[in-house]
Amino acid sequence: MATINQQILLASRPEGEPSADNFKLVEKPVPELAEGDVLVRNQWLSLDPYMLGRMNEGKSYAQPQPLDEVMIGGTAGEVVASRNAHFQVGDKVVGMGGWQQYQLVSGAQRGVLQKVDTARIPLSAYLGAVGMPGVTAWYGLVKIIAPREGETVVVSAASGAVGGAVGQLAKARGARVVGIAGGPDKCAYVKDELGFDECIDYKPLKDLKSLSTALKAACPKGIDGHFENVGGLILDAVMLRANAFSRIAFCGMISGYNGEPIPMQNPSLILVNRMKLEGFIVSEHMEIWPEALKELGTMVATGKLKYRESVADGLAAAPEAFLGLLKGRNFGKQLVKLY
Ligand code: NDP
Repeated sequence: MATINQQILLASRPEGEPSADNFKLVEKPVPELAEGDVLVRNQWLSLDPYMLGRMNEGKSYAQPQPLDEVMIGGTAGEVVASRNAHFQVGDKVVGMGGWQQYQLVSGAQRGVLQKVDTARIPLSAYLGAVGMPGVTAWYGLVKIIAPREGETVVVSAASGAVGGAVGQLAKARGARVVGIAGGPDKCAYVKDELGFDECIDYKPLKDLKSLSTALKAACPKGIDGHFENVGGLILDAVMLRANAFSRIAFCGMISGYNGEPIPMQNPSLILVNRMKLEGFIVSEHMEIWPEALKELGTMVATGKLKYRESVADGLAAAPEAFLGLLKGRNFGKQLVKLY
């Protein structure tokens, strides 16, 4: 077994946009196991937009990531050594192993590793469609938007890890589903492979009028539910087409993650249309995870929920892949292959 554990630490906090200089690659010895310990070789690292919030010190729903510590991150891997009766060498597990090749979990840290079954679901999917992004899609769609058959649901960042699942879950509930995504390739994928009814490429639609005109054409009966991943102009355009008693799930506002304000242009529409707008953080709703994962896992195993992965090769590639994710250069769930 290898004796070196490569890790990526947070070296400094971003000033404005994050850069590769904010990260530092180091090598540490693979730790020795004490009684009760489990050693995991991380095979996949998940890169997610929330990590930017942890890099900064500003007000947020979560504590900032400490400097000079391993970057936070979800991981999927294999147990390579165990002095714990609950884990055997070869078990496939998911956890929050961070940006590193090996993760040592002590016997006292109960519940931090989940064993997963890879017979019908690939290990990497537990970081995407059958993991946190999938559950995020499920919560916002099922618990906030709650679409009825025949209603129209719109989702932004539609080709992404969360957005792709939202649309397919909404289709499974009989909704008409319209995606919004950046570029013709992403839109073709959203329609042709994920089965959305329409997808709007927002990139050439630079003002509110052109975006809301495109939404009007794609949503002839108006919008009953919207799953917001982006904010800004997209949200304003959706608001203009929202029906009475429509629901918006506020999941992410990625267009404002670099700190620039993204004011809502017309909040009076909330009142006029008696709308429900609700933000949520998926980790605060652990009670729904089993039900959501059951549906997501069944759909993936039976080919009813499709997804795409962008894979960066090797831990050293993680910072650039993360910066690319924040610029929309990913196409589907952004992962780093660590083995
Ligand atoms: P994605 O895989 O969707 O990747 C992010 C995508 O955002 C990009 O590919 C890009 O797609 C799109 N995007 C749109 N506008 C911008 C912009 N101005 N700058 C950069 N990218 C933009 O990521 P996830 O599926 O992991 O996450 C989607 C959203 O869900 C994020 O906002 C994230 O923060 C949020 N989230 C919230 C959670 C919660 O608990 N509330 C949990 C997990 C995720 P395109 O090219 O189509 O524009």
